[in-house]
Amino acid sequence: MAKFQKQQHCAFCGRPENEVKMLFTGLNAHICADCVEKAHEIVAEEVSKKQDNFTLEKNELPRPKQIKEVLDQYVIGQDDAKRYLSVSVYNHYKRLMHKPGKDDVEIEKSNIIMVGATGTGKTLLAKTIARVLKVPFAIVDATVLTEAGYVGEDIESILTRLLQVADYNVKAAERGIVFIDEIDKIARKNDNPSITRDVSGEGVQQGLLKLLEGSIVNVPPQGGRKHPEQKLTPVNTKNILFICGGAFDGIEKKIAQRLNTQVVGYTAIQKVAHIDRDNLLQYVAPQDLKSFGLIPEIVGRLPILTYLKPLDRTALRNILTEPKNSIVKQYQKLFELDDIRLTFDEEALNYIVDKAIEFKLGARGLRSITEDIMIDAMFEFPSSHEKQLHITLSYAQSKMEKSSTKHLAEIKQSA
Ligand code: ADP
Repeated sequence: MAKFQKQQHCAFCGRPENEVKMLFTGLNAHICADCVEKAHEIVAEEVSKKQDNFTLEKNELPRPKQIKEVLDQYVIGQDDAKRYLSVSVYNHYKRLMHKPGKDDVEIEKSNIIMVGATGTGKTLLAKTIARVLKVPFAIVDATVLTEAGYVGEDIESILTRLLQVADYNVKAAERGIVFIDEIDKIARKNDNPSITRDVSGEGVQQGLLKLLEGSIVNVPPQGGRKHPEQKLTPVNTKNILFICGGAFDGIEKKIAQRLNTQVVGYTAIQKVAHIDRDNLLQYVAPQDLKSFGLIPEIVGRLPILTYLKPLDRTALRNILTEPKNSIVKQYQKLFELDDIRLTFDEEALNYIVDKAIEFKLGARGLRSITEDIMIDAMFEFPSSHEKQLHITLSYAQSKMEKSSTKHLAEIKQSA
């Protein structure tokens, strides 16, 4: 009977049943085993191309000046830190793209550490860098890290974040950048190696050292504590760039001590005469980080050391309006979405800056003060027919009188 039936063909290559290994039958068509294999190859190739959207093309490589231009759009001032960051990130890219030959020079990575008071733009710099990047980028907080076996997160959790950002593409994560915030919080509490156990200090630094040095680390892909049943993902940290940031409260004292003890001989005295005592952070050197409590090995693994300046009145005033997504622009956008035109008197803006300085809240305070001034209008305006809102000095003052930020600052200051 079968002999007389019409031969079935593969709908893709057209070969008849008797010329193929196997023919699969669908609703209205057939496909042969060879075509199934071919299709599988194509699908696998496309999927891997999509997953690897962190691939770097040479012509896409942002130059240090281009990176800094982007930083300038979002971050006010901090030129030194921007230059260091731009160069380091650019070099990181170059390292990744360079395939060393047999006798070639091996370029080592240069991890970065930024020192600067809180609210001066360290995290903002890191976040902005992420905008220009074509590699996975994760921000983690060092305060949650503790030595294995203690309450808190294992050091490896730093890499969990990176893996998540890279969609669990290990190869991409292995070329990523990690920003570790508040690195100063894992400093030893005093300059001498501790006799008793120091849960949040030296042990964590030792763990971190392994990551910075470049080693294969077993990472719990879902985060949390490692436990025996969990499947771990090995990640090589050799090509991961680490950028660390910290306020290092009180490091100025260490810098001053060092500068004073260096005053030996006439030339040294001359040099010291030029020291800007109001901004000692600009003289920060690796030995100051050691005096602060970072172990020498960690300091050695963070060879690029830069600082952020405290924000003065002009900087704070610029932060309000200049950056691409400045606080004022953000509120204007919010109102614009309700077809309301929001404008500010120059005096009102200066008043916001004055209050941020008075309450010692720095740049972080600008937002909360503006929020306090705007909250009533944001509540009322969407239900009214008003199409304009102009913030004058007296309007700002009247709203601040009853503001929660004011009370908070007063409590802080009297404490
Ligand atoms: P840090 O990490 O140094 O503690 P952040 O980067 O988190 O400080 O800054 C807090 C907020 O203050 C930012 O979200 C930003 O709005 C503002 N800010 C701080 N410094 C700057 C700056 N140099 N330029 C623009 N905005 C800044």
